[in-house]
Amino acid sequence: MENLKELNTSTRVLMGPGPSDVHSRVLRAMSTPLVGHLDPEFLMVMDDIKVMVQETLQTQNPLTFVVSAPGSAGMECCLVNLLEPGDEAVICIHGVFGTRLADIAERCGAKVIKVEADWGTPIDPNNVKKALASCKPKLVAIVHAETSTGVLQPLEEISKMTKEAGALLVVDAVTSFCGTELKVDEWGIDALYSGSQKCLSAPPGLSPVTFSQAAIDVLENRKTKVQSWFLDLTMVKNYWAGAKRAYHHTAPVSAMFAMREALRIVLEEGLENRFERHRKNHELLRDGLERLGFEFLVSEPYRLPMLNAVRIPAGVDEALVRKRLLDEYNIEIGGGLGPFAGKIWRIGLMGESATPNHVNMLMAALKQLM
Ligand SMILES: *Cc1c(COP(=O)(O)O)cnc(C)c1O
Repeated sequence: MENLKELNTSTRVLMGPGPSDVHSRVLRAMSTPLVGHLDPEFLMVMDDIKVMVQETLQTQNPLTFVVSAPGSAGMECCLVNLLEPGDEAVICIHGVFGTRLADIAERCGAKVIKVEADWGTPIDPNNVKKALASCKPKLVAIVHAETSTGVLQPLEEISKMTKEAGALLVVDAVTSFCGTELKVDEWGIDALYSGSQKCLSAPPGLSPVTFSQAAIDVLENRKTKVQSWFLDLTMVKNYWAGAKRAYHHTAPVSAMFAMREALRIVLEEGLENRFERHRKNHELLRDGLERLGFEFLVSEPYRLPMLNAVRIPAGVDEALVRKRLLDEYNIEIGGGLGPFAGKIWRIGLMGESATPNHVNMLMAALKQLM
């Protein structure tokens, strides 16, 4: 075989459901020369990340750390540590990621009680209440920002009823993290996982996670071993939080450097300013899309600012337009998943991709293509 050429990808504009565009400061941090994963300087990087994740999640939880794997591993981490065979788990499903939660909970040997809503609408708290009354729930798991449909799920009422039922609240905040209000302590969230590549705008492959004291108590009182060695927090926590910082696995050092810089950028901007920026650019995009004849899938109060799900107008060949956006304009947007394949687009305005310039570029390209 001939030698392959050096990798040279196109300069894309990332406006899909993640990954989002990454700031050049983050890319530079990622090219920092390696240090060992137990080097005191790297342990300091881990400490910095932990403090900044606590701040961005608005939590004091000491067990706040980053799983060395993507958001789906954070999801698995929360469930495998909290569920044992025979436990009952209320899983809310209103899109692809709720479906994935149910799949994982079943693989943990839990009895899953599903609470469903039509895709494109939020979960009705009354149905959660009914489900809670029908079993002895160990936990309720729910997606805060359902990236497959563009729905923002209100959490506070569901959190209250979950507490009253003596269960833990597990939240998927992969897409909401750093893009919209998310208050772990105030909202009574017990276990939460997120992702690096959406509104944080770091490279994919890491999942910030936090556990409350109530969740740690459940973990510490397990009768069976956690079924995953890699995700077993009874061991991982000694690497992230233990006094000895014992070897567990080799952390992805460069990705952690990148995450540290991305978190610094978020806190420099300020959470409220960042949320406002996502809102403003969503409104700009919404106005432009509506002028072109697109309709939003989700009713207004439940729309995500960072993930705009719109129905494709009649007569538009959605796959062709998406392909031409990529080939001719270097712009990536997302298609629909599951029942929405071919029916909607999912346009991301996440982190570094939530700018007026991104919106204007996409609108100009769409005007030419449609
Ligand atoms: C992207 C996403 C995930 C999965 O994250 P990966 O990094 O792709 O594994 C989970 N939940 C939601 C809501 C997401 O948007």
